[in-house]
Amino acid sequence: MHNFDFYNPTHILFGQGQIAQLAKVVPAQARVLMLYGGGSIKQNGVYDQVKQALSGHTVREFGGIEPNPSYETLMRAVALIKQENVDFLLAVGGGSVIDGTKFIAAAAVFEDGDPWQILEKGGKLVKAALPFGSVLTLPATGSEMNSASVITRSATQDKLAFASRLVYPKFSILDPAVTYTLPARQVGNGVVDAFVHVMEQYMTYPADAPLQDRFAEGLLLTLIEEGPKALAQPDNYAVRANVMWSATLALNGLIGVGVPQDWATHMVGHELTALYNLDHAQTLAVVLPSMLRVRKDSKRAKLLQFAERVWNLRDGDEDSRIEAAIARMQAFFEQMGVKTTLSGYGLDRGAVDAVVEALIKHQLVQLGEHRDVTAELSRTILEQAL
Ligand code: NAP
Ligand code: FE
Repeated sequence: MHNFDFYNPTHILFGQGQIAQLAKVVPAQARVLMLYGGGSIKQNGVYDQVKQALSGHTVREFGGIEPNPSYETLMRAVALIKQENVDFLLAVGGGSVIDGTKFIAAAAVFEDGDPWQILEKGGKLVKAALPFGSVLTLPATGSEMNSASVITRSATQDKLAFASRLVYPKFSILDPAVTYTLPARQVGNGVVDAFVHVMEQYMTYPADAPLQDRFAEGLLLTLIEEGPKALAQPDNYAVRANVMWSATLALNGLIGVGVPQDWATHMVGHELTALYNLDHAQTLAVVLPSMLRVRKDSKRAKLLQFAERVWNLRDGDEDSRIEAAIARMQAFFEQMGVKTTLSGYGLDRGAVDAVVEALIKHQLVQLGEHRDVTAELSRTILEQAL
């Protein structure tokens, strides 16, 4: 096992009715800005629950944070915060609202010029951030319990990530009942995103870390078992609760300590979203199967372990077990309603060229646990995903 430094200060309040706890976890004297997305929270009652819980607090609002939150929109919230002396943020939504709030929290107190540099430097320039909490409405990204954020600059079609210890949420409220209203597409996206988060931290090479492997396999198996039930029985509380907690644990740092990590699928996927506006999980479902096929030699030991422990595949030679496992994973993504080829989203070879060009522009040409995913290898991976 590699050395590690694990830090995760986020307080989690989990379960039905927990939004009422906001009254206790938001500081009483705070000047709060509540941030949300395109309005789903007004239709499903979450907005009312939050307002009721915070009826004794001073709360302003900023709505309209879009999926794949844009720098342009977020900077409008930063201006409002400065104007109104806001000192506590509350994100109410999915990964986009929470990621957007992380950027706003850092940008609002950034003193070294254009806050876009926070993204360009991957978070290193963040010296301070406003405190914030979240009410999660979409299990997927793990943003509710991690320190990462992904922001899009619409004008230049850049989608970049940053991370900083200063942007962990102070608390996150996870009420599985608020996820009943998710459209099937977002249920599928969420399960696929969480699955791929686990794979990015598991599907590398053995690192003498059997506990982390078992954690990862437990999450994968749970998502495979519970994900389809969430589609079939949308208001089954137990199913929603298990999906929600799995998605949080998939990317709160725990399973990734002491082991190598990959993340090439996410980096290539971000370019597909920036250029063609595919949903985040759609890009992952396209890239990961091909990523694993092309890199199967360097991942062989773990792919065989994945085949046996996750898909119960024990017969046949090594290559056929590996291919069967990747095919099963791909079929699972399709079962969750997420297509797994570029052509499934109307994209052709032109998209391959454009993504490779964007990877070069962003210097994402040494990806993966061995830093061997070059621009040319990404091209091969994308061509095989057509
Ligand atoms: P999202 O973009 O936050 O939300 C997708 C859609 O779901 C929105 O239209 C939203 O509508 C709707 N929605 C959310 N909750 C709902 C509910 N309870 N009922 C009905 N509709 C609901 O989706 P996401 O997958 O959570 O976030 C994706 C973003 O996170 C991407 O930008 C991705 O790159 C990023 N990401 C971050 C991390 C990380 O570690 N920080 C990891 C992976 C991905 P409204 O806007 O109307 O609310
Ligand atoms: Fe993701």
